Amino acid sequence: MPSDVTTYELFIDGEFRESSGEERIDVEFPYDGEVWASVPDGTAADIDDAVTAARTAFEEPEWLGLEASDRRELLNEIADTIDAHASELAELETRQNGKLLREMEPQMNVLGDWFRYYGRLTDEIGDGRTVNVENKDGQMFNYVRHEPYGVVGAITPWNSPLLLASWKLAPALAAGNTFVHKPSEETPVSALRFAELLTAETSLPDGVYNVVPGAGATGAALTDHGGLDKLAFTGSTAVGREVAKKAGENLIKVSLELGGKSPNVLFPDADLDDAVNGVMKGVFAATGQTCMAGSRVLVHEDIHEEFVDLLTDRAGDIKLGDPRDPETEMGPVAFRDQWETVKHYVDAGVEEGARLAFGGEMPDELPGECFIQPTVLVDVDNGMTVAQEEIFGPVVSVITFGSEEEAIELANDVDFGLAAAIWTQDMQRANRFVESVRAGTIWVNEYRVVAPNSPFGGYKDSGIGRENGPEGLKEYYQVKSVWYDHAGEVGDPFSLDVE
Ligand code: NDP
Repeated sequence: MPSDVTTYELFIDGEFRESSGEERIDVEFPYDGEVWASVPDGTAADIDDAVTAARTAFEEPEWLGLEASDRRELLNEIADTIDAHASELAELETRQNGKLLREMEPQMNVLGDWFRYYGRLTDEIGDGRTVNVENKDGQMFNYVRHEPYGVVGAITPWNSPLLLASWKLAPALAAGNTFVHKPSEETPVSALRFAELLTAETSLPDGVYNVVPGAGATGAALTDHGGLDKLAFTGSTAVGREVAKKAGENLIKVSLELGGKSPNVLFPDADLDDAVNGVMKGVFAATGQTCMAGSRVLVHEDIHEEFVDLLTDRAGDIKLGDPRDPETEMGPVAFRDQWETVKHYVDAGVEEGARLAFGGEMPDELPGECFIQPTVLVDVDNGMTVAQEEIFGPVVSVITFGSEEEAIELANDVDFGLAAAIWTQDMQRANRFVESVRAGTIWVNEYRVVAPNSPFGGYKDSGIGRENGPEGLKEYYQVKSVWYDHAGEVGDPFSLDVE
């Protein structure tokens, strides 16, 4: 192994540990294919060690005995640690998946906000609530306690590694759970470094956050493990279904953030320049590798030609290059297999009758084998593969419509329901769209905006449950209804008391 390759191990119980297996995974910089890190390919025995550490930590008074205000303090410490290391974490993210440093730096600068936000919500866990019951002359009362599930198993993808991990870790810790994390094999380093930093620089007890890197089989070992109390998954719909099956077998709670094929809908009364910007933001930012990508653009037939001219011009101006260079606007896709997937979809689109208005090729002047031009497919029918399946790359399928009803029908005519956007000056039309489109997030005259305090998640095949907002916290605690009877008189022993 070359000397400039950094080796990492598993992070279990507050320390780096060697894997029980021999296999390792190389981590490459997708810009030029250079291998710069190596991590173990975690085994089922490693997963078992991590779950055991998380279970032990969960039961320790050092963790279970914390008050809500102590957890709030801890989450604030985590946020401060992220702030202090934001540049380093941003660079790690960029080296793993090739996303632009100019996107990752601002993302890491706000990552701490998720921990601060859920720190504030710890009060909600501590509070529970009192329930009014018709009681025995005031001698009986009922209250509801909020309690953590226990050990959370979390599996995350490669496109926004730390952001998507934090959408789980912050509410999980706020509610008092412990955590075993299996990051993507493409992007395991930032999670390992994150766990190391939290252990070194905050009061997080050992064993509360454990990271076992590895490939899909490591994820499957985690979902198979009978010692978990909750599974949290972000990734493809296909793997999400497998995760849900395992949760069903083990009868544990599961939340799933899955894929999308989100419609970005343009009406003739929209500010077209702004809308084209929104389309670019929706599908070319992050090289199209976002779950919420606006990969189906529905355009009213009256503005279709003008829109396609504008979009292809703008796509042609996008500067591809080194994701560390602040001038670069689009980096590579994250790894070669993903490049093949994207290319396969572009070819399938053309074979099924779409017209390639721009892109679709690997540019010659760039290094590595992961660059693909921003790609515009027009004359797309909503039934085509490129309109129905998630591509997860910088490929937009442009579809025309003639009426508002048709636009809504097309927007909903897909198995996914993660996000949607409408571009119009008519707010009544926007409201009708908001009410009729079956998606978990809708933007009006915007695209790709998220916040810690606003719920995010999918309708239909895009998932189960929500992340962010108070809804995101509810995924990590269960409720216990407690009855106290001071009267000392049990009623009829043969009937259910309904108070
Ligand atoms: P995958 O579903 O392939 O992988 C997601 C995670 O699951 C990875 O850590 C992967 O490991 C792991 N995994 C793979 N097979 C199994 C298995 N059988 N059991 C348990 N875990 C397994 O998705 P991608 O990594 O390709 O990520 C892209 C997908 O994620 C897209 O569909 C995208 O839409 C979705 N996504 C959804 C978001 C949302 O919030 N709704 C946000 C971001 C992405 P490994 O990588 O090592 O194979």
